[in-house]
Amino acid sequence: MAIATVNPATGETLRTYEGHGPAEVERRVDAAHEAFRQYRTTSFAERARLMKAAAALLDEDAEDIARTMTTEMGKPIVAARAEAAKCAKAMRWYAEHAEALLADEHPTEHDVQDSGADLARVHYRPLGPVLAVMPWNFPLWQVIRFAAPALMAGNTGLLKHASNVPQTALYLGDLFRRAGFPAGCFQTLLIGSGAVEGVLRDPRIAAATLTGSEGAGRSVAAIAGDEVKKTVLELGGSDPYIVMPSADLPRAVKTAVTARVQNNGQSCIAAKRFIVHQDVYDDFAERFTAAMNALTVGDPLDDDTDVGPLATEQGRADLEELVDDAMAKGATALCGGSRPSELPRGWFYRPTVLTGITPQMRVHREETFGPVATLYPVGDIEEAIAVANDSPFGLSSNVWTRRDEDVAFFVRDLEAGGVFVNGMTASHPALPFGGVKRSGYGRELSGHGIREFCNATTVWQRA
Ligand code: NAP
Repeated sequence: MAIATVNPATGETLRTYEGHGPAEVERRVDAAHEAFRQYRTTSFAERARLMKAAAALLDEDAEDIARTMTTEMGKPIVAARAEAAKCAKAMRWYAEHAEALLADEHPTEHDVQDSGADLARVHYRPLGPVLAVMPWNFPLWQVIRFAAPALMAGNTGLLKHASNVPQTALYLGDLFRRAGFPAGCFQTLLIGSGAVEGVLRDPRIAAATLTGSEGAGRSVAAIAGDEVKKTVLELGGSDPYIVMPSADLPRAVKTAVTARVQNNGQSCIAAKRFIVHQDVYDDFAERFTAAMNALTVGDPLDDDTDVGPLATEQGRADLEELVDDAMAKGATALCGGSRPSELPRGWFYRPTVLTGITPQMRVHREETFGPVATLYPVGDIEEAIAVANDSPFGLSSNVWTRRDEDVAFFVRDLEAGGVFVNGMTASHPALPFGGVKRSGYGRELSGHGIREFCNATTVWQRA
């Protein structure tokens, strides 16, 4: 894919970039390696000062970078502003908490003696330069949720961002430099996916994190495995949204719409499969369809737009293929199911609700990365859990019920990295984020996230 900004609302190519060649990549990898030697010894207080300076710059730049993101990948401008604010908050959160999260751990006195030591502890040390391969859908947030903890832990970072968000990618490299981080601490590599292998195999690169599709994750994990390098993978999702008879239905419907169409439907943690108890199914389907139909689809730079275009022409084609496959195999579209004829330019798709889903349809097993919801009626909680778990993915899950017994079942049995009760899945710096099954492994955010790229060093000492 060419490295370029193409406005998804118009299809217009606004800017193309010459990628970094081998010499420039070598220079940047070396800079990351050199910077690490010194940076790893800086104090938490110094790193926190730099991270807070970067957060302050991001706050100042929020409107400009929000417009850049919207122009590059089409997210509604209101959501782009919220994304910038969320990033600054996460940077401050890690600036405040990293030292405590990485404090030495002390076994009990009994266990220390039992190990034959006078003193024993676990000390967290940074790993080194980490390669971050990132997607376009939350072009700031995906990077910051890696960069803030990684830099606070004392690692350095190299960002290979998605090829369709080069301006956001360059902004991020610049942000940390302007904040005062030493040269080489955080840099952007303008490279295509074909150049990732060479960087990953470089002995100076210690580890890698990838957020993106299953194919990209498998490729990076295979290479990293071959090199015996640590990876964290945040891949796709097809999160269930289960509605039980005791649910507050108006709230469940309102949240369902947001959970499905946030970011124009292109979120890994968007609710994608709506599994509804038969006692409330008809009511839910009617209200949900009406609300999806009432959404404003249009110019993402307009504050009143709910749903903008899909980020790429290929992304819309992939989504159309999934919907067409389902319809050809007998699914019914309660709304949508086509492009909006009033928006002939750009890569728009109408919010869509599909019923009559069967396991033979691709939408049943694949991720719908756009504003398309599938509805499933179920007879009881066991069936709801069985349908929810009948997916290769296991990122997060949403359940709506006022019965504590239901919650206990869901928390015990749903195959997912999160269970959100009476709300929609969202990330927060203090809560671990990540999935199981084909959604990947490892965790981002919280103490779990910052320790992923640390060497938990056992210190055992006798007098
Ligand atoms: P993608 O095609 O996998 O791209 C993601 C990144 O990986 C881009 O930087 C891309 O570079 C690079 N890439 C692609 N193929 C590669 C390969 N074989 N080797 C090395 N790098 C490779 O994914 P996307 O379409 O941009 O993003 C959508 C996917 O990401 C969805 O499945 C979504 O669910 C997932 N996602 C997951 C999370 C999560 O936290 N779990 C969050 C957001 C998105 P180029 O752009 O140069 O191709």
